[in-house]
Amino acid sequence: MSENLAKLNARLADINALNAANAIMDWDHQCYMPKGGARARGEHQASLSRMAHELFVADETKTLLDKAKAETSGDEDTEAMLRVVSRDLEISTKLPSSLVAEKSKLSAQGHEDWVEARSTDDFSKFAPILEKLIELAQKEAECLGYSDHIYDALTDQYEEGASKKYWDGMFDTIRQPLVDLVAKIKEKPAPDDSFLTGDFPASAQSDFSHKLVRAIGFDLDRGRIDVAAHPFCTGWSIGDIRLTTRYQNFLNTSIFGTLHEAGHGMYEQGTPKKWDLTPLAGGVSLGVHESQSRTWENLVGRSRPFWDHFYGELQVTFPAFQSISQDAYYRAINRVEPSLIRVEADEVTYNLHIMIRFELECALLEGSVKVKDLPEAWNEKYRAYLGIVPPSDANGCLQDVHWSAALMGYFPTYSMGNILSYQFWEKLEADLGDVNAMMAKGDFAPILGWLQTKIYSQGKKYKPQDLVKRVCGEPLNAEPYNRRISAKYSELYGL
Ligand code: ZN
Repeated sequence: MSENLAKLNARLADINALNAANAIMDWDHQCYMPKGGARARGEHQASLSRMAHELFVADETKTLLDKAKAETSGDEDTEAMLRVVSRDLEISTKLPSSLVAEKSKLSAQGHEDWVEARSTDDFSKFAPILEKLIELAQKEAECLGYSDHIYDALTDQYEEGASKKYWDGMFDTIRQPLVDLVAKIKEKPAPDDSFLTGDFPASAQSDFSHKLVRAIGFDLDRGRIDVAAHPFCTGWSIGDIRLTTRYQNFLNTSIFGTLHEAGHGMYEQGTPKKWDLTPLAGGVSLGVHESQSRTWENLVGRSRPFWDHFYGELQVTFPAFQSISQDAYYRAINRVEPSLIRVEADEVTYNLHIMIRFELECALLEGSVKVKDLPEAWNEKYRAYLGIVPPSDANGCLQDVHWSAALMGYFPTYSMGNILSYQFWEKLEADLGDVNAMMAKGDFAPILGWLQTKIYSQGKKYKPQDLVKRVCGEPLNAEPYNRRISAKYSELYGL
């Protein structure tokens, strides 16, 4: 290793340590910190963020990076690592610190105004700050640069290589099939899912969630599950990945929420040891990451064979299910219902919620929809795609936190994850054979092994779209998703 590369690695290790400390503080904030800790925690985290940012964008980093690049040839891993760092550095240095400061100020105010507007169902309290946040996103896009559409600059930060055109192509292939499928399902009687709500002790939910994630392969010696208001996955090394979940009256929340986060967690745990704590560690992009959480939540967790294996244990853990047949349970956990709230949406309608946000984000950034007209535009899209109109803005355009935090450009990665999960799964089945029989026996090791070899072990070495091509032999393709969603729900609803 050249001296410059060693110096660069040492600098990146320092930055990694600062970011890890920040992530632990954030995890603690959401899981255990008493309310009184908020002010100090905010200051500590801001200091650590600033120190990490300053170390990273310092001239010295760029100098070391350029020298290391000139000295390195032939070593694929090192070249990939230098590519990843170059991209991050380019993005970080293009944004002036005045803009970064303005963003954090506006989003703090944005969050306050959004909470107030949502709780009083009064969009006019959020509209003025939203106008400023959109102007800021437009400025941000100008700093980052783009050749085609303003959205391209913003979305590429979250999903390398994505653009408005890329997302348009993706949504064009799923829009009509999903709208048609939802319309057909709406004409059929909805399965009863009332028994999923009840007085389920938190300790039993915790035991059962732990049992499930242990069985699918999340390593609890290198991770843990805690309770937080919003489920998430975080971590700071392959030896320490944290999941959070919630134990509420609605049993799906803990079961499928935990499987979802465990999918993210196993991806993180699957980084090769040699890349732990380096820029190549972890998931390659938001879209690919979400494909893994969705795989374990939906393709595994909401399948019949999964419950062939686990339903008996569920009935023992939650005796209320002793009078419910496995088939009725399977139908209940796969119930489709056009609803107003994205985060509670089922597998079929979810992408329609995302599409609405994507289309409106583009329109707001272009200026073709004005902020004052947003509620009307929002409701019109819900009517067109889901056949329902929100009775209030609190359950309409005020429901998501993202815009208040100046986050624009990443909603489509959720849909990419859903689509990719089916595309990967089709490949996995072709390679492994009767996956359903394996799941029915509770043998998840071959599935995890395949994902580990093909995806987790690659870390950030390849660009996300290149990884998809390497694994599937083709670019992102919604055909498996459309075909399998249609087959699954036609069977379920007798279409
Ligand atoms: Zn997720």
